[in-house]
Amino acid sequence: MQIKPYLRQQPSPEGYFGAYGGSQVPPDLAAEMDRIYHAYLTIANTHDFIAKLRDIRTHFQGRPTPVYYARRLSEAVGGGRLYLKREDLNHTGAHKLNHCMGEALLASSMGKKKLIAETGAGQHGVALATAAAYFGLDCEIHMGEVDIAKEHPNVIRMEILGAKVIPVSFGQRTLKEAVDSAFAAYLEDPVQSFYAIGSVVGPHPFPLMVRDFQAVVGFEAREQFEQMTGWLPDHVVACVGGGSNAMGIFSAFIDDAVELWGVEPLGRGTKLGEHAASLAYGHPGLIHGFKTYVLEDSDGSPAAVHSVASGLDYPGVGPEHAFLNKTLGRTQAAGATDDEAIRAFYQLSRLEGIIPALESAHAVAYALKLAKEKPYESILVNLSGRGDKDIDYVYENFPPEQYA
Ligand SMILES: *Cc1c(COP(=O)(O)O)cnc(C)c1O
Repeated sequence: MQIKPYLRQQPSPEGYFGAYGGSQVPPDLAAEMDRIYHAYLTIANTHDFIAKLRDIRTHFQGRPTPVYYARRLSEAVGGGRLYLKREDLNHTGAHKLNHCMGEALLASSMGKKKLIAETGAGQHGVALATAAAYFGLDCEIHMGEVDIAKEHPNVIRMEILGAKVIPVSFGQRTLKEAVDSAFAAYLEDPVQSFYAIGSVVGPHPFPLMVRDFQAVVGFEAREQFEQMTGWLPDHVVACVGGGSNAMGIFSAFIDDAVELWGVEPLGRGTKLGEHAASLAYGHPGLIHGFKTYVLEDSDGSPAAVHSVASGLDYPGVGPEHAFLNKTLGRTQAAGATDDEAIRAFYQLSRLEGIIPALESAHAVAYALKLAKEKPYESILVNLSGRGDKDIDYVYENFPPEQYA
């Protein structure tokens, strides 16, 4: 008899969620991944580690974040009830700090001196730089020169926090090259440094570790929702880039009779290059050392993708999402277009006084559609982050007067 809950069953010791996940990396990197997995199993399962992380969450991050009933938004839709898990109120304004603090605590417990990562729009870099400051670790963030020019405020934040931003000047000078550059730096000194991945992606054990560190979002929300209403929600909705905020909130509900919706960015069209919906339009393949659903060019390399939300702009998806959706049919792949996300961004801002991140606005947009179709049902949305980082971009490109 299998009496373990889902989270204790998946992944396999080799990091497979069914056919997806695993670790296909060069041998020297594979040895490091084994070391990190071993450290995770041993150190992260000690009482001291668990107690320290809980203390950090309470006193540094400000957890638990609330669950909030969005009354005016629900009434405006006139259907189901909408509740928001307020990860925008987590320190630094998004869910990403949850796994960065976990990864940094593990690195520090392993005696590492430096955290290394790549960043695209800079959100992961800022969260990791914050964690590095907390633990007194060095921090090196690799970022493409194109992104450095585009995301100036996050570059400044990282530098103020004491991190070193390394400009990447080869190839397209964006996220993919930043990954290559960060991996190379890590392999130069794997004993002293720790590579901190920013979502439930990459080789084993990262999809497992990042999920477990994000599961706090779901565990809190499940308890809070039940306290508030006496029931579990009928639906849980989250946006999916790599999939960490979605796995975080889904984790607590997988064994329950609750519908789980992962919202992918449908961008501005259905053609390759116009969206970043890997589950909806992709097929099984290999990316960054693991197997999952990917969007590929005809030559088999990761395709260029588009979303108005830069945090959702990834041509793959966490392997556990592929497993839960394609193999188990446990989650549903949903979507929201750029335009729907912008509309939801304005609706939530004006009806509730909450400016959401454009990523999170995708989840809100789909929840609004669902609420219309499901009167009397309850919908819990993971509001993964706040929108301060997006206001200039939205104001210039989608001015408020056009969304009256
Ligand atoms: C990075 C980011 C995302 C997308 O990442 P996931 O790993 O899919 O959660 C979503 N929301 C916000 C606010 C982000 O910063």
